[in-house]
Amino acid sequence: MEMNYIREMIKKEEVLNKAKEDYQTARIKAQTLCDHPKIVEGESVSGDAVSSSEPPFRVCTKCGYTEEGWGCGYSFLTKGYEEDRITIPAVDRKTAYEFVRGRVISNDEHIQVKLGRKELEEILK
Ligand SMILES: [Zn+2]
Repeated sequence: MEMNYIREMIKKEEVLNKAKEDYQTARIKAQTLCDHPKIVEGESVSGDAVSSSEPPFRVCTKCGYTEEGWGCGYSFLTKGYEEDRITIPAVDRKTAYEFVRGRVISNDEHIQVKLGRKELEEILK
């Protein structure tokens, strides 16, 4: 027979895993429905002899959805034609990372789902 404290731990793990699943579902819903009204851009890092360069990334400060830049640019975190007259604030990478929820969606991934929110849901999992 299992000890009570083992049983208690397993029970808590089940509660925790269910909470993680529920959180992920809520996060994905929020990130696919958000209008991304406030965006910041984490600055790129220039490469040198010992380290490679890293592209900039944009984060919605409301929902935490994050896209990597360069390559094709941005898919959902762009102000489109208005971008020329709207300044998206550049911040240091550490500050920008504090807004990230989930993970940074790579350039290759977000360009493929640019037109579909349903497809976006899939890559956010
Ligand atoms: Zn958003």
